[in-house]
Amino acid sequence: MGMSETFFGPDFDQLQRQDPEIARLLITELDRQRQNLQLIASENFTSPAVLATLGSTLSNKYAEGYPGKRYYGGCEEVDKVENIGIERAKELFGAEHANLQPHSGASANIAVYKAFTKPGDTILAMSLPHGGHLTHGSKVNFSGSWFNVVSYGVRQDNELIDYDELRESAIANKPKMICSGATAYPSLIDFEKVRAICDEVGAIMWVDAAHFIGLVAGKAIPSPVPYADVVSFTTHKVLRGPRGGMILAKAEHAAAIDKAVFPGMQGGPIMSAVAGKAVALKEAASTDYQAYAKKVIENAQALASALEDEGMRAVSGGTQTHLALMDIRGTGVTGKVADMRCGLAGITLNKNAIPFDPETPAVTSGIRVGTPATTTQGMGLPEMKEIASLISRAIKDGEDEGKAAGIRADVSALTARFPVYPRA
Ligand SMILES: *Cc1c(COP(=O)(O)O)cnc(C)c1O
Repeated sequence: MGMSETFFGPDFDQLQRQDPEIARLLITELDRQRQNLQLIASENFTSPAVLATLGSTLSNKYAEGYPGKRYYGGCEEVDKVENIGIERAKELFGAEHANLQPHSGASANIAVYKAFTKPGDTILAMSLPHGGHLTHGSKVNFSGSWFNVVSYGVRQDNELIDYDELRESAIANKPKMICSGATAYPSLIDFEKVRAICDEVGAIMWVDAAHFIGLVAGKAIPSPVPYADVVSFTTHKVLRGPRGGMILAKAEHAAAIDKAVFPGMQGGPIMSAVAGKAVALKEAASTDYQAYAKKVIENAQALASALEDEGMRAVSGGTQTHLALMDIRGTGVTGKVADMRCGLAGITLNKNAIPFDPETPAVTSGIRVGTPATTTQGMGLPEMKEIASLISRAIKDGEDEGKAAGIRADVSALTARFPVYPRA
């Protein structure tokens, strides 16, 4: 069974006896997370403390409603858990209201639409090819089929958000809501400018902070909370909590947000995940986490510049966050091929469209790399150089099985020096 099992608690013995097929996959997945390089910008290694909540009996409890106002009995203990989490969120982010119940980032966004709009309303959001998320108006998503989503993008010359275009579009389209936030935008967003545009046209200011909220929690980048009417996010990206969603809002929107989450679009909350969110919020309030958040950005900047030394180009001139979007046309290889070759070499990243990409979304001219996971492992600037060189080798030689095996061995040697979930 390998040595990985020593990480799991005593209940794992029971799982192994009862369902060895699934137990084995839990182990091989942990081995994969330990051995490969985890560069997916939206992934991280949550703490054993958070994992403990997820495997707890809180999972058994139905708690439709909110603390003190539940539709089921026996909620005294989970009420305390949720209240602690809400208070921690308000304190950490300086927010007037917090809702910890959304099951995911997409669920949190459904609640935001439900709270502030009606089907058919006009919304302004960042275009998908320029870094926006599916829930920001993709035609295959509820947002694109139920709402009139008008997209804004980045300027071609500097690949930064074009606030003039955003303002003109807001004046012309009179949106109910303006969404800022993206999944592949390496720069900071000027929330003060967005607020001014929202005020000018009377729109709700919604920030989807899924990717960068952890950097805000760690005080490494400016916060959208003082400006936005509502901020939605995931808890499992840089923030390093359990898989889930959360919403912060101004007090005047508190009732609308809570109603939109339950009964608006969910039934009972996943109380084990709510407990995990509370634990993650306590961790994120520590000075250790603040140092981590700063390191994540330093590492991303080092990785982007080392990849530039390897002949790739950092979109928007570099990064101010945890992720870099690299235009890899200089390597002569598409994003799709680079993604595949890196995968064979044990480097997990994703192909990603770059702004004004001449390739289709299934092929792309770019890769997206992020440093939340490797930074949690304890890697620093020298390792970022090493990683850039490994990526470059994989892109050049990764189709050769022999060479890929050599790169994979070097990747394993690197990750072995920074053990994830160290064995007791
Ligand atoms: C990741 C992400 C989401 C979706 O989160 P899920 O938990 O996968 O549903 C929504 N918006 C943005 C900007 C994201 O980056």
